[in-house]
Amino acid sequence: MMICFCLFLLHFSLQVSTPQEPQNRVDRRAQAMVNVEGGRKGMDEKISRTEDEWRRVLTPEQFYILRQKGTERAFTGEYWNNHDDGSYLCAACEQELFEADHKYDSGSGWPSFWKPVRKEAVTEHDDLSLFMRRVELVCSRCDSHLGHVFEDGPEPTGLRYCINSASLKFVKRGK
Ligand SMILES: [Zn+2]
Repeated sequence: MMICFCLFLLHFSLQVSTPQEPQNRVDRRAQAMVNVEGGRKGMDEKISRTEDEWRRVLTPEQFYILRQKGTERAFTGEYWNNHDDGSYLCAACEQELFEADHKYDSGSGWPSFWKPVRKEAVTEHDDLSLFMRRVELVCSRCDSHLGHVFEDGPEPTGLRYCINSASLKFVKRGK
């Protein structure tokens, strides 16, 4: 009789310890999983996620631009007119991509840089969409879409790295 009672208690405690989790709990866990794994893997190792996982940790606008190669409208993003000193990280995986020192006013309405913080941080792909030949830029760590690079930038490189604000996370120097 006592054993039956104990088994009943055990069964009951297992039932109450595994409640259904609300959706927002799952989202925070997914975000934490990206951060923990990112920290453990180091910044040079690739991150691969399913699109469902990315959808859970990014805002709808970030998901559209970073994962579906979207483009924000010119002069609407957060950083095209940002002149603060600091670093620009990938909004998806937080790899450092660009420095404020290499940012310039291109007049395009998108954040523009004449070089990445290091060339290994961005990967170039041929982009033949929209009846044009362009060079697409993706983050080398998580393969998220950033923007394009054009050959009409200032010296010394002559390049214009034209990046969506939504693909970036700005960290002010000293913070
Ligand atoms: Zn990234």
